[in-house]
Amino acid sequence: MLTDVIRSRSSRKPAAPKRRARPRIEGLEDRLVLYSTLGAQWPYASRITYSFVPDGANIGGYSSSLFATLNAKYATATWQLQFQKAAAAWQAVAGINLCQVGDDGSALGVNGNQQGDPRFGDIRISAIPQASGTLAVCLTPPPVNGGTDAGDIILNSTSNWGVNTSYDLETVAIHEIGHALGLGHSAIQAACLYAYYNGTKQSLNTDDVNGIQSIWGPARSDIFNSNGQSNGLNTTAANLNGYIGSNGQAAIPNLTIGKTGQSEWFSVTVPSTTTGTFVARVQSTGLSILSPKLQVLTPSLSLLGSVASANFGDTVGITLTGVTAGTTYLIRVAGNTAGSAFGGYGLLLNFGSATQPLISPPYTAVAEQADLGGGSSSMEAETATVGDYTAQGDALEASELRGRRDAPPPPAAGPSAPGQGSTSAAAIDPGPWSSHGPAKPNRGRPASAGASTAAIPAVHQPNRRPSHKAIDAAIASWKARGLLGPSGS
Ligand SMILES: [Zn+2]
Repeated sequence: MLTDVIRSRSSRKPAAPKRRARPRIEGLEDRLVLYSTLGAQWPYASRITYSFVPDGANIGGYSSSLFATLNAKYATATWQLQFQKAAAAWQAVAGINLCQVGDDGSALGVNGNQQGDPRFGDIRISAIPQASGTLAVCLTPPPVNGGTDAGDIILNSTSNWGVNTSYDLETVAIHEIGHALGLGHSAIQAACLYAYYNGTKQSLNTDDVNGIQSIWGPARSDIFNSNGQSNGLNTTAANLNGYIGSNGQAAIPNLTIGKTGQSEWFSVTVPSTTTGTFVARVQSTGLSILSPKLQVLTPSLSLLGSVASANFGDTVGITLTGVTAGTTYLIRVAGNTAGSAFGGYGLLLNFGSATQPLISPPYTAVAEQADLGGGSSSMEAETATVGDYTAQGDALEASELRGRRDAPPPPAAGPSAPGQGSTSAAAIDPGPWSSHGPAKPNRGRPASAGASTAAIPAVHQPNRRPSHKAIDAAIASWKARGLLGPSGS
């Protein structure tokens, strides 16, 4: 495993962009490699979405059974919470916003946008039966995979899933979402991005944090907390009077809670056009998975209203009646540690008579492009196979003993019918399995809906290692457009 990682890293060309810079420790005898990155990432950091694929969707010729598999053991809210917590762990430390959206059940890899497709999340989470020993597969984000399949996560519906017990869903979700955000494997066994499942890991290792920040930068600061400004105290509240329009409304987008314990303080004075009602709302709905907290206070800090949500993405509001022109109020916004304490949001103030619309999500649509392949990671440009669908990606192996990269493939297993075998114990199956499959001639296309008898191919193809030029060119163009990194919007 360690040997594999070193080999793949040493084969990479030296990369100048800071995005790929990563620390190394030179030991006395052996060189330790830490995290790795894929040389792949989403064009827009401002909003990377994820969705739960409804059962029946065509995933490589199989019907996805995510809900049936996990609802057999847990309430929907319980298992979805494991993914939400995993997403929140990454959003807390990186300059990105993650956002849960709906999913229309389109087939894996259907033609559409590589990012910002309105039908489903950029990262789609599904489940089909896979070879025992594999817990989940993640298809590498763009531009390595150029279509809607980029970043998609497919669980093994036959694995014995658990919450706080093996195979712990949150642990696997953190690992796979890490891949979907551009991280490769780490050589650190305590890291969530270690290549094999080796126990429950529900918080990020320093190595994971260093890795994700090398790609996206740290959590962002908004305009009220940059260039020497801070609205972190009631005494430094940012005045919003200038944002109020003639309709008595103010909408301030692109705000962020990015630091532990951070509050943002604002002040506003009731305009002369007041109707006597003041509605203050904090919106992360459609923007991020921040769990918002809101308070409205008098300048002398008397609390007039307080509301909090533990939902991963929500909008909360406080309504004051009988307000009079010229009165000043303080508004305090923070993240709720009962949910996601970090993330982007917008602030909505309404002194007018019309209902105020929510802030629209940022534009993130990027059309489908040809798969560029390659990548620069410990994934070694592997071809991941999901049913009869292939793309660049990697599988999380249940254990190191079973997950040896160069182990011969097991006999091809015929798929079980959806819903069957969902409780078989992958942990005790001795068959090694590699995620490698035949190179796809083009982007993997979903098989016809009836093709449910496809065997699982497992052909090792270790030498496919395309040039990184195309990827570098694509990323350079994104950078030129100001899309990448903590300042991307
Ligand atoms: Zn992995």
